[in-house]
Amino acid sequence: MKTKLLFYSSLFLILFCITDCKNSKKTSDPQSDTSVAKQEWAIVIHGGAGVITRANMTPELDKEYRSALAEAMNTGRKILAEGGSALLAVEKTINVMEDNPLFNAGKGAVFTHDGKNELDAAIMDGSNLAAGSVACVTDIKNPITAARYVMTKSVHVMLTGAGASQFAKEQGLEIVPPSYFYTERRFNELQEILKKEKNGTVGCCALDKNGNLAAGTSTGGMPDKKYNRVGDAPIIGAGTYANNNTCAVSATGHGEFFIRWTVAHDISALMEYKGLSLTAASDLVVNDKLVKAGGSGGVICVDKSGNISMPFNSEGMFRGFATADGKEGIYIYKDEK
Ligand code: ASP
Repeated sequence: MKTKLLFYSSLFLILFCITDCKNSKKTSDPQSDTSVAKQEWAIVIHGGAGVITRANMTPELDKEYRSALAEAMNTGRKILAEGGSALLAVEKTINVMEDNPLFNAGKGAVFTHDGKNELDAAIMDGSNLAAGSVACVTDIKNPITAARYVMTKSVHVMLTGAGASQFAKEQGLEIVPPSYFYTERRFNELQEILKKEKNGTVGCCALDKNGNLAAGTSTGGMPDKKYNRVGDAPIIGAGTYANNNTCAVSATGHGEFFIRWTVAHDISALMEYKGLSLTAASDLVVNDKLVKAGGSGGVICVDKSGNISMPFNSEGMFRGFATADGKEGIYIYKDEK
């Protein structure tokens, strides 16, 4: 009787293991939930996440945002379709949004508590893990370009404040008086002492025809910030990350949480070490880990096959994507797919 029991329980255990191994193999295949074939190139952008609902948007502003997102995305799409690099596509796409006062990056950056504009940006090359970032800069017109120069023309990864400006000047980048970043809309926002979260950080991730991934993020940070506060955007692994083995990620949201939860790298690590798909990894981090932590915001990401994911746990996120097979979309609210 005892031997029989032992025999059947061992049989049960073996059968259980076989089924379980099969299941875990299924979910750990990075391509298992992929609905598209490998893309020649892909681009995904964001223009910030937050309390963005139809109720607090006018139809005109809605239209303006959509055309601004499309203009930026088309800049990067053209570069990628013509065989340009993911890095160049990311930089130029973000430049367009930095120059548009609708977004909280470059012209249009939010104000600090003291009524200044302090900008952060980072860029990362997934092919070699090279990265560059600038933080707390006040007079560089296009911080993402400065970040790219830090990556390619300096031996450092991150430069801040006056030192970053000096470097940018030496590299011949466009320097503007701090008043350039003044926009009445953002200044009034500060005067009202914002009760609700507003933003418009910008980001772009791209896959090019050579299979290289790149990510970039540029922002004015959180409105009303103090003490030269630096957010997640310029911190590699927090708001920005790219690795050809996994994915490229750009984040937007409450930076303090994105830094502590190393959001962008966590998505990459879940793919690399746990074998999760891009969708599963980004969803787990944004809609589970961050929600439990109380960190609002979202990410845009693209993997090495050109799969796109754009999860966010806030009410809305300005976002868009385009892939080589002709699929594309520009979205703002939660109920849009
Ligand atoms: N993540 C940015 C920061 O914390 C802000 C944002 O994306 O809205 O600086």
